[in-house]
Amino acid sequence: MAEAGRGPGSPRGNGGPTVGALGEAGVLARILPRLAGAPALLGPGDDAALVAAPDGCFAITVDTLVQDQDFRLEWASGHPASGFDVGWKAAAQNLSDVNAMGAVATSAVISLTLPAATPVSWVEDFADGFAAAVRGLGAHRCAVAGGDLGRGREISATTAVTGDLEGRAPVLRSGARPGDAVAVCGRLGAAAAGLALLESSVALDGPDLPDGLDLPDGPDLPVGPDAALRELVRAQCRPHPPLDAGPRAAAAGATAMMDLSDGLARDVPRLARASGVDVELDPAALETAARRLAPAAEALGADPLEWVVTGGEDFGLLACFDAAATVPDGFAVIGSCVAGTGTLRLGGRPVLEAGWDHFEES
Ligand SMILES: [Mg+2]
Repeated sequence: MAEAGRGPGSPRGNGGPTVGALGEAGVLARILPRLAGAPALLGPGDDAALVAAPDGCFAITVDTLVQDQDFRLEWASGHPASGFDVGWKAAAQNLSDVNAMGAVATSAVISLTLPAATPVSWVEDFADGFAAAVRGLGAHRCAVAGGDLGRGREISATTAVTGDLEGRAPVLRSGARPGDAVAVCGRLGAAAAGLALLESSVALDGPDLPDGLDLPDGPDLPVGPDAALRELVRAQCRPHPPLDAGPRAAAAGATAMMDLSDGLARDVPRLARASGVDVELDPAALETAARRLAPAAEALGADPLEWVVTGGEDFGLLACFDAAATVPDGFAVIGSCVAGTGTLRLGGRPVLEAGWDHFEES
């Protein structure tokens, strides 16, 4: 068996056993206690778990993270990437999809494919990151109800999450009407700025990001260039979907909603096409978002507006509201819907549909 943790293609370990040495039962015994949180009706241990569906139905979503496609074990710059961050992102992006329907997450199942040489400590870090995201993002009803471990040539993590609509109608992408306000909740371009920093030679303050939740999200950050840059790196490594905002937007009468996983330039046209409207974005609103990315833009000589318009993985919410409605707290209006067939315009000009596409050669 190959030794783990020796090269850019190998996950970092702490010198402890590998997955292959410990075996499935041994690895499960190490990680299940780390994932314990809210109880399912029947949790891990039987052939299937049981999850309540008090609403008579549940929202369900699934997503896969694949090594070297969706995450790296080490960034191009040499900055380390941790199992904790991969686990956090696996939870966050699925919780975000449930949030985007206006639902509250109730359960998660995880399927991990691992090379036998993977250090068990990497898997423990993954479990810790997953549990920290569920807890830290406020998904207090979400039970980790079960999962699967398998062997493969590269690390792959598939997560499915269920959600409870609590009696509300789901908010679809297709309900926006001409005249609706277009609003966002969450950061725009922060994760893309963080990615650019991780792939650059810019020195970040300290070799490792802390595993705790001690760096606050949002604008009230400690001043200083390093803190500002690290906060953007954190937006990439530990995205923070606003999990209370989806149900609040649904209750406030959002006409259409989706999460921003692939960037405004790709996600807005998806909603616009589904609804049969054009969306006109306000350049001034986007420039306000771009100004918050100034420390990274200055460090890298980049245009922050590019990150705001095309950057993915922020996992904020894009929602439309009747023009006469009050936009809920935390949402900022960035544009409006007009009659059309799915075109995104910025300052009157069509925006080329650019953003993250899984099948696009980069
Ligand atoms: Mg989504």
